[in-house]
Amino acid sequence: MMKIKPLALLCAGLMISGSVLAADYQFSADSKPATDVTKTKNEAVYKQLDFASKTDFENVDKGFIAPLINNGDIPGVISATGMNFMQNKEAPASVNPSLWRHAQLVNRGGLYKVSDHIYQVRGQDISNLTIIETNSGIVLYDVEYSVDSFKKSIELYEKERGKKPLKGVIISHSHADHFGGFAGIYAAGLATPEDIKSGKIPFYAPEGFVEEAVSENVMAGNIMARRAGYQYGNVLKQDASGTITAALGPVLANGASSLAIPNHFITKDGEKATIDGVDFVFYLTPGAEAPAEMVVYIPQWKALSMAEEVNHLQHNIYTLRGAKTRDASEWASYINAAIARWGNEVEVQFGPHTWPVWGNQNVVEYLKDQRDAYQSLYNTTIRYANYGYRPDDIAENAKLPEKVFNKWDNRPYYGNTRNNLKSTYIKNLGWFSGNAVELAKYPDAERGKRYVKAMGGESKVVDLAVQSYKEGDYRFAADLLNNIVSYDASNKDANYLLADALEQIGYQEETALTRNLYLSGAHELRVGGSVPNKLSTASPEVIANLPPKLLMSYISMISDQIKAEKLGNHTIALNMDGDKFLLDLHNGVLNYVELTDDMPAQKADVNVQISKVDLIAVVAGKEKMDDLLNNGKAKVEGDREVLKQIASTLDTKIKNDMNLVLPLQQANQIQ
Ligand SMILES: [Zn+2]
Repeated sequence: MMKIKPLALLCAGLMISGSVLAADYQFSADSKPATDVTKTKNEAVYKQLDFASKTDFENVDKGFIAPLINNGDIPGVISATGMNFMQNKEAPASVNPSLWRHAQLVNRGGLYKVSDHIYQVRGQDISNLTIIETNSGIVLYDVEYSVDSFKKSIELYEKERGKKPLKGVIISHSHADHFGGFAGIYAAGLATPEDIKSGKIPFYAPEGFVEEAVSENVMAGNIMARRAGYQYGNVLKQDASGTITAALGPVLANGASSLAIPNHFITKDGEKATIDGVDFVFYLTPGAEAPAEMVVYIPQWKALSMAEEVNHLQHNIYTLRGAKTRDASEWASYINAAIARWGNEVEVQFGPHTWPVWGNQNVVEYLKDQRDAYQSLYNTTIRYANYGYRPDDIAENAKLPEKVFNKWDNRPYYGNTRNNLKSTYIKNLGWFSGNAVELAKYPDAERGKRYVKAMGGESKVVDLAVQSYKEGDYRFAADLLNNIVSYDASNKDANYLLADALEQIGYQEETALTRNLYLSGAHELRVGGSVPNKLSTASPEVIANLPPKLLMSYISMISDQIKAEKLGNHTIALNMDGDKFLLDLHNGVLNYVELTDDMPAQKADVNVQISKVDLIAVVAGKEKMDDLLNNGKAKVEGDREVLKQIASTLDTKIKNDMNLVLPLQQANQIQ
């Protein structure tokens, strides 16, 4: 049954065509099937790419030993079965066939033999667990995101290959999907925390690993986790109108993750480690896929792992969850250096995501293809920019070599080509294109109000949007409706139609993450906002592990400067478990400097001694500074009122269920 607005129907005959269209549009919160326009667009993909080639399907199953335990299902953590609904089926109209094909490849899993000494468990989490068999034991290379996933993966390995003593751990980089499962090593009885702390079992990671792991997940962690929930489709159903794959692996597993503190840091290129008779040679690759990352080569087996610098997909120059933008040219240069270093002899390449590549020629070609993609993104962006093309023009219209970008390994399943081009512009030239109009542009809500008025009111804008929608121009329909939605959450027709438009765009996307973002945005509009948040990266365990300086940086960030500027200027000398800082509240801004022995003594209005645990409790809003002063847990010399006042400026009310499409909820706004 169509829901027809009576008034609109009555007037339909008198109105222009746009209104006639709006009158018979069924506004509802339901998910819609693919339209004919979407169907046609998705069908065209079959002509663009080489679907006849089955090499990837052969390689992804090569070396298969055994399926995942319980088919990879861990209640409450991961439903691998649920993510396998696309196997052996044709792509439905609501999914880009190229993304469908990729999901078929990465959503499967099991224990695999990579080479004589190297085994992988794939598909139990978004990342792989690699087990390297040494003379009398094993070395673990990246340990998945979830502790529970790790436990099941190692159980599977031990079931098939026997229980072997742990001789070492290597973590390739600072992203949580590579180290979060670390505590599973203890749970599985492979080592004790003391074995790692003492260095008895060597644990290697690249220089800067801890700082980067913490900074990415904590300082901007609140908004980043929210965006990640949309990007990974955690708020969506797992089906053909919802999330299909996380592209690097089937899905990001839920459940507890942990922070791992290495006992050996790789600081120099070419550094070698011998673990239980096997040589590992490391090269650092910072500033590309992650701020702290390294690749590793095992000369005696001619085995290379490029960590996450190469994958069977195009990766992110800028990840839409939000992070520092990466350097595409540097990324290409690391891959190129690997070709020069090991290209003559390498026999196998394995990584913490997707599947391995075997044979010298194949590995070198794979590396070259990935290198070309990142170098091309950089060269294209900068060359076009030098001509005067603006970021959007480059992203939409730049001509890219098909020989590079039509390769399956370079398809934009995780990183999106348009986003990568735009981000490379921003990385090198910043957000401003040079057009002064951009400097004067109103924010969305202010702009929206003016546009809606200029166009003749909200119902006129909805009429126009229906027209665009029916013509298949979902992007313009979305743009039109955003003018209303940006300042008014209550116009249901606008919300539902915007959701429908975003949904069709999502159905056409080849990139898993942009598909998820479009569909999550649609979901938010349909439920009216405040979508529950299931992800949080700034967990109490992570906050408790913050290095002292980063904790100060966090405290400085959450201090409400408008409250603080009324307090006058004050200095505090802080001694936190022996780490000394001078805090300088100056005109409302809370600055800090770490005091080192080579600095002269500093004068302060108040001296405070407090443990890190107690200070963290204040920052988390679990303790009041007043109580700590009264029960003697915080010791003060000087004016204790100053300390109380400064503590009262700390903002502990930042929520994590903020809208990302609808206007920011009243309860989430800074009061
Ligand atoms: Zn990863």
